Amino acid sequence: MPYSFELSPRQRELQRQVQEFTQKHVAPVAAKVDETDVIPRELIKIMRNPPYKYTAAWIPKKFDGLELDRLDICILMEEIAYASLPIATLIEVSGVTTLVIGFGGSEELKQKYLSRHAKGEIFAAFSLTEEGAGSDAGSIQTRAEKSGDDYILNGEKRLVSMAELADIFIIFAKTDPTKRRRSISAFVVEKDFPGVSLGKRRTCFGVKGHQTFDLVLKDCHVPIENRIGEEGRGFKYALMTFDDTRPTLACGYVGLARAALDIALKFAKKRETFGKPLIEHEAIKFPITEIATEIECARLLAYKAAWLADNGLWHKKEASMAKYYGAELAVKAAMAAMKTLGGFGSTTEYPIERFLRDATTFTVAQGSPEIQRLVIARELLK
Ligand SMILES: Cc1cc2nc3c(=O)[nH]c(=O)nc-3n(C[C@H](O)[C@H](O)[C@H](O)COP(=O)(O)OP(=O)(O)OC[C@H]3O[C@@H](n4cnc5c(N)ncnc54)[C@H](O)[C@@H]3O)c2cc1C
Repeated sequence: MPYSFELSPRQRELQRQVQEFTQKHVAPVAAKVDETDVIPRELIKIMRNPPYKYTAAWIPKKFDGLELDRLDICILMEEIAYASLPIATLIEVSGVTTLVIGFGGSEELKQKYLSRHAKGEIFAAFSLTEEGAGSDAGSIQTRAEKSGDDYILNGEKRLVSMAELADIFIIFAKTDPTKRRRSISAFVVEKDFPGVSLGKRRTCFGVKGHQTFDLVLKDCHVPIENRIGEEGRGFKYALMTFDDTRPTLACGYVGLARAALDIALKFAKKRETFGKPLIEHEAIKFPITEIATEIECARLLAYKAAWLADNGLWHKKEASMAKYYGAELAVKAAMAAMKTLGGFGSTTEYPIERFLRDATTFTVAQGSPEIQRLVIARELLK
């Protein structure tokens, strides 16, 4: 597929539709979501059902999904995150869960869970992190012991996004605790399986509404057919998934940065100090031009990674570059906007303080910037 710097007519139409959706459904509730720490169930329902079905973006048409390209999902993420990063993360959580099933799951498993997810009947959460294992995910302790036709899962998970909303969990557990990554398998665990319970809620200072919980697995019997793919391949499916979802998350950061830039620009053109608009002062103008330039860079990096993914080309390095660059840009853009707005920047009259909390909190999701750098280094040294 040839590379173009222009969106295709189909992509422009998608962008227009998502902008319309965002203006109608997301922008009006964004501040309230932050204030109440709850995404309205009505909005989630709208995002899961026709005509939008955005949470089915990653699911093949064969299983009733939208089967959008990764680049299309970049557009989706940027436009929704322009109004609210936490609401956009519904699409990312849908990605990290449905892709793991898509990469490794049997036809029966896909039919059973992807189709229902695509129809808006169920929602999935992703559960890898534990108390002693975040970046170093190979050291998870959750056990999966085979017993007849079941696996018995025991362990405690941390920071499971949108766990309260979830009907199923993608759980990563080890069949051999003496080994690392190669003994990790992935399972679909239904929330109603005996032995599954939500633990403590971990309140974050940003991405309000996104909500993260602990998850407890106590002698939880999971049928063998709910193992995703082969035993010991779970971590591989997780990494394949992140290679595809990091570019789209990067575009979520771009959306937030663009929103911060627009507010800063508008303010700087209107407000005057010492007889001229703020934008005429170089100390204000230059950081704004830097952010505008870096937004272009971040979007291009993410689009390139997504384009490589869409064309079946190796894109691990580019995905991590896009993710780390985008995450750091979002924080930088929110900080620059806060500085531009002076004292008003940190008041709740403007969404800048929310952007700063959202950007900072979500920097580590799907791997911190340091971990992205380690991935890039590993690829460079190959
Ligand atoms: C809002 C939110 C939502 C989340 N949602 C989910 C979810 O749905 N499912 C899930 O499984 N997890 C989720 N997480 C967890 C997230 O993936 C982890 O927090 C992240 O991977 C980092 O792990 P950690 O917190 O254990 O930090 P650690 O791994 O302990 O790292 C601490 C710090 O040290 C740095 N560091 C670690 N190792 C190195 C190294 N080798 N070199 C340099 N620096 C290093 C890290 O970058 C970090 O800054 C979520 C987290 C947040 C904040």
